[in-house]
Amino acid sequence: MAPRLERFVSPGKGNGLRATASIKRGELVYSAEPLACCVSNKHAKEVCHHCFTRHETLLRCSQCKMARYCNITCQKQAWCDHKRECKCLRSLLPRIPTDSVRLAARIILALLNPSQSSSGEELYPLEEHESHLSSMSEQKKQGLSELASMLELYLQQEVPHLTSALPPSCQEPLSLIAKVTCNCFTISDGELQEIGVGLYPSLSLLNHDCRPNCVMVFEGTRLQLRAVQDINAEEELTISYIETLSLSEDRQKQLEEQYHFTCHCQRCDSQDKDELLLSGAESRWRLLKEALPGVEKLKVESNCEELLENCSHLISTAEDVPDENLYKLRLTDMALDASIQLGLWEKALRYGELTLPVYRRYYPDPHPVHGVQLMRVGKLQHYLEHLQDALDTFRQAYQIIKITHGDDHPLTTDLLMKMEECRAEMDQQSSISH
Ligand SMILES: [Zn+2]
Ligand SMILES: [Zn+2]
Ligand SMILES: [Zn+2]
Repeated sequence: MAPRLERFVSPGKGNGLRATASIKRGELVYSAEPLACCVSNKHAKEVCHHCFTRHETLLRCSQCKMARYCNITCQKQAWCDHKRECKCLRSLLPRIPTDSVRLAARIILALLNPSQSSSGEELYPLEEHESHLSSMSEQKKQGLSELASMLELYLQQEVPHLTSALPPSCQEPLSLIAKVTCNCFTISDGELQEIGVGLYPSLSLLNHDCRPNCVMVFEGTRLQLRAVQDINAEEELTISYIETLSLSEDRQKQLEEQYHFTCHCQRCDSQDKDELLLSGAESRWRLLKEALPGVEKLKVESNCEELLENCSHLISTAEDVPDENLYKLRLTDMALDASIQLGLWEKALRYGELTLPVYRRYYPDPHPVHGVQLMRVGKLQHYLEHLQDALDTFRQAYQIIKITHGDDHPLTTDLLMKMEECRAEMDQQSSISH
């Protein structure tokens, strides 16, 4: 298949990727394995470090006691990438370096072993990646310097000097760490939960738009770039680097701090949906906004009981604030998560159902977040035997997921199976009642 994308210079944005021919909504544009990737520390005990599948129990590498695998097969296949990393990990025990340090080390080890990596075919080699060091605040640079020292310490035994075997721009730890943090992607599972980080050099060329024409989904570590709008030949391909359901001002601030550019996309320029996101009387939603940081802290701490109690209380005191209000929506979403964690299915369903019409308004295009939300609510309805509702919700989810994930993705297969189960159970019920 001829490549469907090519590198070009995007006016005002620098390097970018564009379509070589017209692409239909729902089509797979590009698919790639990473140059290097790693499971994030936070999920190191739940996810196989080779195939990135979640498991209840995993085999543990007896040497570093950090890497974990589904089975012997995954462990064996991972060994050529893990062998040298394993030594580095052991040298620092019990300390475990941060995700970006572990990823940077994996990138260096992959570059030192080019037969294993496909870097020769990249549209955008690592040497050309931007580090943004010149536009970074001193404080941020300081943080990165600490990571760079950690990287050197971590690699000390395996790569004592970041030798001439590496491209010139990758020998300097600070610049490498800066490139990694600006260009790496979060790898998520089918349900969009973060599981790791990876560098996909060609796709680092993709520029951001707050209403992009493409989305990225993962199958294991393989990245799939799919079109969510019809795209013309020579049109620029875009993704969103951040969660788009937020105010223009907040999105722009996040993009500037994290990615060092000012977004001038159509949505930002027109401040699209900002008014709706702030609907309701300010005196009423301000309380919700001010309570959010404290509530989010409970979420980070996984303190589900207190989290749910706080969210329920805040939501019930803000009945006159419309469900469309951003702060109320954030609280409702957290109440949904907490209720699921606590196994309070009826409560979870109530909160989940509140979010659906709001998601529909904010995500007019097929969006993976909307599809996955529908699927979660559908599963609750199914579990609570609201079969007709469940089937309807699953159908809506399928209309989105078949575009954002494609028909072959395991999540889509799972969804089709759920729909089949609903139909079978409905048939069974009607045959009993007749
Ligand atoms: Zn595995
Ligand atoms: Zn190991
Ligand atoms: Zn924007």
